[in-house]
Amino acid sequence: MKLTEKQKNCPYCHEQADYYAEPITGGFNDIGCGLIHASGNWYMSSWDFDVMKVADNPVIACPMCKRPLNEEEK
Ligand SMILES: [Zn+2]
Repeated sequence: MKLTEKQKNCPYCHEQADYYAEPITGGFNDIGCGLIHASGNWYMSSWDFDVMKVADNPVIACPMCKRPLNEEEK
């Protein structure tokens, strides 16, 4: 699987801070959602200030750049 430059540099599916990628909408101190990296998989999470929810099943692809996230790059 060859990644495009956009996919390699996509902030929405690469960790920007501890485990978190860039929020897809909103901000970390506001209401938002984005991807979170945990134990080799990416999960969709959403938060409302201090209340955070994380989906049970891993995300299969980045919603922004379409990079497959269910197959880790070696
Ligand atoms: Zn991406």
